[in-house]
Amino acid sequence: MTPKADADLFALESAALANAKAAHADPRADARAALAEMIVHYERLMRESRRLIRRSDRAELDMNQMNRQLHELAQQLEYRATHDPLSGALNRAAVIDRATACLLEDDMALIVLDIDHFKWVNDDFGHPAGDTVIKTVVHCLRTLLGPEVAVGRVGGEEFSVIWPTSDGDEARDVAGHICDAIADQVFGAPIDRQVTASVGVSWNPKGTSFELAYSRADEALYAAKRAGRNCVKIHSQLPPPLTPPPAPSDAILLE
Ligand code: GH3
Ligand code: MG
Ligand code: MG
Repeated sequence: MTPKADADLFALESAALANAKAAHADPRADARAALAEMIVHYERLMRESRRLIRRSDRAELDMNQMNRQLHELAQQLEYRATHDPLSGALNRAAVIDRATACLLEDDMALIVLDIDHFKWVNDDFGHPAGDTVIKTVVHCLRTLLGPEVAVGRVGGEEFSVIWPTSDGDEARDVAGHICDAIADQVFGAPIDRQVTASVGVSWNPKGTSFELAYSRADEALYAAKRAGRNCVKIHSQLPPPLTPPPAPSDAILLE
C-alpha cells in the first residue's frame, strides 16, 4: 500500500469513528437525518404535484376550448343541413320535419306562396336581381311574422309558412297580410316594378300528414294563380275523419 492510500483509509476510518461517536453521543441524530431526508422527499413530491396540477389545468383549458369549437361546428353543420344558403330560410327537408312534428301536436295552417311571373324578373333584370327578390321576400316574411315563425323556401321561388292554429279565419288573415306585404315591398334598383305572390292555404287538424296538408295548400295556390295571381285562396275541403265513426250501440261483437 502507498503512503497516500494509507492516509486516505485513515481519514475514512476517522470520519466513521467520529460519526459513530456522534451517534453514540446523540441518539436522535439518526432520526434527524431520516426526518431531513423525508422533508427533501416531501418537497420533491410537492414540486411534482404542482407541476402535474399546472399541466392538468392547461389540459382542462384546452379541452374546454375544443368542446366550444366542436359545439360551434355542430351548430354550423346543423344550420347548413336545415337552411337555404341563399335566403337563410328553412330548406324543404326542414319544413317537412317541422310541419310533421307540428301536426303531431297541433292543428296547423300551411301557407304556401309563389312569386308571380318570377321568370320575367330574371329575364328583365338579371339572375342576381332575381336572387335579391328571393332574399327580400324571406326578409319581408320574417319582419312581418317574427323570428319564431317557421319560414321555409320549398322551391326556386316558392315559400312556406307553418302557422299552428285552431282558427281557420286566423290562417286566412295571416295569408292576406303576407300577400299584401309582398305586394307593398319595394325591392330597389334595378327592380323598378311591383313584385307579387300568389298564396294558398290549407288548414289541417292535428294528425294530418304533411303530404296531405301540402297538396291541399298547393291546390289552393294554383287556384290563386288561375284567379289572376296576387291573391289568397283557401283549401276548403275538410280532411276525412282520423278515427272511424263509433260502432252503433246494437252492433254484435264477433269473437
Ligand atoms: P308563375 O307566376 O306562374 O309562378 O310564373 P313564374 O315565372 O314565377 O314561374 P316559372 O316556374 O315559369 O319560373 C320560375 C323561375 O324561377 C324559373 C327559374 O329559373 C327561376 N329560379 C328558380 N330558382 C332560382 C334562384 O335561386 N334564383 C333565381 N334568380 N331564379 C330562380
Ligand atoms: Mg312563380
Ligand atoms: Mg314556382
